[in-house]
Amino acid sequence: MSKPKIVVLGAGYAGLKTMRELTKSLSPEEADLVLVNKHNYHYETTWLHEVAAGTINPNQARFMISDVINPNRVRLIYDAVVEVKQEDQRVILENGEITYDYLVIALGFESNTFGIKGMEENAFAIVDIDSSREIREHIELQFAKYKTDEHAKDSDLTILIGGAGFTGIELLGELVEKVPKLCKKYDVDRHKVKIINVEAMPSILPMFTKDLVSHATQSLEDRGVEFRLGAAIKECSEDGFVVGDDNELIEAGTVVWTGGVTGSSVLTESGFELTRGKVTVNGDLRAPGYDNIFILGDCAWVMDEEADRPFPPTAQAAMQHANTCARNIKALLDNEPLETFIFDDKGTVASLGTTDGIGTILSGTELKGKAAAAMKKVVDNRSVLLLGGPKMLLKKGKYRPF
Ligand code: FAD
Ligand code: NAD
Repeated sequence: MSKPKIVVLGAGYAGLKTMRELTKSLSPEEADLVLVNKHNYHYETTWLHEVAAGTINPNQARFMISDVINPNRVRLIYDAVVEVKQEDQRVILENGEITYDYLVIALGFESNTFGIKGMEENAFAIVDIDSSREIREHIELQFAKYKTDEHAKDSDLTILIGGAGFTGIELLGELVEKVPKLCKKYDVDRHKVKIINVEAMPSILPMFTKDLVSHATQSLEDRGVEFRLGAAIKECSEDGFVVGDDNELIEAGTVVWTGGVTGSSVLTESGFELTRGKVTVNGDLRAPGYDNIFILGDCAWVMDEEADRPFPPTAQAAMQHANTCARNIKALLDNEPLETFIFDDKGTVASLGTTDGIGTILSGTELKGKAAAAMKKVVDNRSVLLLGGPKMLLKKGKYRPF
């Protein structure tokens, strides 16, 4: 009898961790393993705001998949997934196709512009290494040409961020550290550079207590961020955001949208039933109606039944999905009962640059300042350890002193 073929789509937190677990729990005689990813590298999505601001080198945030997954054990395919054809158990790739017996879909998120006019065309978004590197290069170009281009305006130096969720706030924390360095490098007066955040809600990061929110707001304002809270972005033109009831235009040379995310569009292409762009999975993380398809990470809508809302899409949750999924695939092969996913919330930390942050850990303990920043580095390093092992941690870990 031929061996079952297990195909994992995506080598992010959920996909790479699933594959690492499967290589430990299944012998080569038990199953063929295939990992499909767009690039030949894994990147730490949770570090992309640093790549976008230019506070870390893009190479620090990524590593080769073949360095952490044995290509003799797992067939590695570097190609883009286009569609899943469930009826004949096939995955259509940009340059070919592949069949499966068991499928894990872990293709992550895409930026969600909610149909705001001009946003897709005119704003940058933090999605992967390439899109983040583009932001860094674009910002630097604005500084580089400010003194030499006779048409350059002061507003070319303005950096406008749309949305003050985690991504927007963490990006601001990096920008306030990067901008003074760019000013020095290109002889630009710091007062000429504006960093503006526009947020529709009256507060940033409402999931944190008032004390933590006010710490974060004050810290960023002290370092030069201008907040425009309670201001909904209605449009994004080539020149900047159109905001509020009076259609005010805020001009900027760099515009970044961090206003929300949704699941991979491959889910839509494949005809899955979706809740806000994601698949509402069963307790065992399988897609409803499909016994052999698991959906993980930012592609999955996993309900927190107690709170009657979905768990937020995080790397922490994605790696926990992976552990449950790998055990459930093994259970399916062994004809054992499947387990139900239970989220073990270890807390949340938002960085505000290298030396500041806010967070809540261990069911309620609040952290701010250097303690939160240190905790964030622990979390970042832990993820490299879990996905890449100790050698990769030594190579890519964050050890910058305060
Ligand atoms: P990802 O890790 O994004 O991986 C998806 C993989 O699929 C990638 O390798 C991608 O290249 C690949 N892929 C995508 N499309 C295709 C395709 N069509 N074909 C082939 N391959 C494809 N969460 C936290 O818990 N803590 C944090 O501190 C934190 N910080 C964040 C900071 C930023 C700037 C951002 C944007 C997010 C942050 N998050 C954080 C959220 C977290 O990054 C996501 O929840 C997490 O990445 C989801 O994991 P995933 O495996 O579903 O997707
Ligand atoms: P988000 O949905 O959390 O935040 C988007 C923000 O944009 C919201 O505050 C929203 O009010 C605002 N917004 C939306 N439309 C707007 C408009 N028209 N005008 C002005 N403001 C508008 O998105 P995100 O920050 O990209 O985060 C995505 C997910 O990734 C989150 O669920 C989060 O849990 C996770 N994440 C976690 C961390 C962390 O744990 N440190 C960091 C980054 C992201």
